[in-house]
Amino acid sequence: MRRVVLKLSGEALASAASDETIDASTVDFLAREIARAMEAGGLELAVVVGGGNIWRGATGAMAGMNRANSDLMGMLGTVINALALQDAIESHGRATRVMSAIGMDQVAEPYIRRRAVRHLEKGRVVIFAAGMGNPYFTTDTPAAQRAAEVEAEIVLKGTHGGVDGVYSEDPHVNPDAVRFDEISFDDVIARNLRVMDMTAITFCQDNQLPIRVFDLMAEGNLGRALAGHAVGTLVK
Ligand code: UDP
Repeated sequence: MRRVVLKLSGEALASAASDETIDASTVDFLAREIARAMEAGGLELAVVVGGGNIWRGATGAMAGMNRANSDLMGMLGTVINALALQDAIESHGRATRVMSAIGMDQVAEPYIRRRAVRHLEKGRVVIFAAGMGNPYFTTDTPAAQRAAEVEAEIVLKGTHGGVDGVYSEDPHVNPDAVRFDEISFDDVIARNLRVMDMTAITFCQDNQLPIRVFDLMAEGNLGRALAGHAVGTLVK
């Protein structure tokens, strides 16, 4: 069994084609890809979902809000996204569990590592909500941290802005930027490449946890990444 943690940004659940915070057809597309990859077998999957489509702590902090309070709002946003994703994945016939880092008994299970592992072993897609439950982080860091905790072999970071991996420079700014098939953590840090938050990058480096960055929205790509194919860029 391959155990992986997939990091989905909240914005990946939205769509330029609609004004909705959560676009049903986009979520359905992601859920279908996930359910298909699970059906193929050999995969245990946990998803860490972000909340940037609803709220980012930094936004409130910049406007003068208390940072910790604003981050709590962001974490609650991830719970909303987790429930949307849960519903969509289950509509494709795959059992799921949402586990929240913030206690909310009526909404989601509390995060308990051993229980999360048991769900994974039983073939349930585990959706980690509320990040790590601590302010001053984004969901990139809990994606890395939970992956280490449940002993996943890799963190898959899906992108949704049309960038299909890690580039030497921002390809939207410099069209001559080249995409790496593979790059080291040291190079990502030295070049200050925006793969994930630096806290998550250094965490993955310290814990020998590779990251694969790939385009989430290209048809079949998420399925290929989940199945272990070499799409996008591998950071190791
Ligand atoms: N957040 C937090 N602690 C965590 C995870 C998330 O405080 O462990 C808050 C933070 O304010 C963040 C927001 O939740 O901005 C939404 O998560 P994120 O920005 O990572 O969403 P994404 O960009 O992945 O959609």
